[in-house]
Amino acid sequence: MLFNKKVVVISGYSGVGKSTLIKHVLKNFNQTKLSVSCTTRTPRPGEYDGQDYYFIDKNKFKTLIANNEFIEYTECFGNYYGTLKSEINQILDNDLICILDIEFEGAYNVLVKNILGNDIDCVGILIEAPCRDDLKTRLIARGEQLSAIDARMSNKRFPENFSKMYKYKIMNNILKNAQRNIINIFKEVIG
Ligand code: 5GP
Repeated sequence: MLFNKKVVVISGYSGVGKSTLIKHVLKNFNQTKLSVSCTTRTPRPGEYDGQDYYFIDKNKFKTLIANNEFIEYTECFGNYYGTLKSEINQILDNDLICILDIEFEGAYNVLVKNILGNDIDCVGILIEAPCRDDLKTRLIARGEQLSAIDARMSNKRFPENFSKMYKYKIMNNILKNAQRNIINIFKEVIG
């Protein structure tokens, strides 16, 4: 079967450097676009509404759920995060490759439960960090509260072998190498 619509799911623990690598991909491949999710968390310094997320309150999020606007959503670290159907459709209808920056549960729904259907080619990239101390250092540098850091680092919801659902894995210990790896992966995905 020949797929023409493509979705790339990118996951990794908080602080692993997903956003930096995604920005690198978007800069290098103008045929890719990030699906901007909705979230109820507050923006971090340097984050912009409509670019990093649609920052909305819980009531608005619940209305979007009730109106069936999300292809998937989750509650993570006390906030809601959701992928809008309209975002994905708009990207794919413009013949662009859709990047989803979503956590493991959302990735499971897309990559294993196939919620986007059979006409869309979905592939996963897992970004890994060399060790937990490294992640903690990055989260502290980002200005996260210690309690939030502990919550973000204890993701107990997934079996240890969840990483199998990702076709590609990138170790982000040296940024230049990780950037080169993700570029090579996208070259392969784009074909
Ligand atoms: P952060 O608060 O660090 O931006 O994101 C927390 C987690 O939520 C990250 O693992 C990110 O990938 C995930 N995430 C962001 N948007 C969505 C979404 O729409 N759906 C799901 N399932 N996860 C999301």
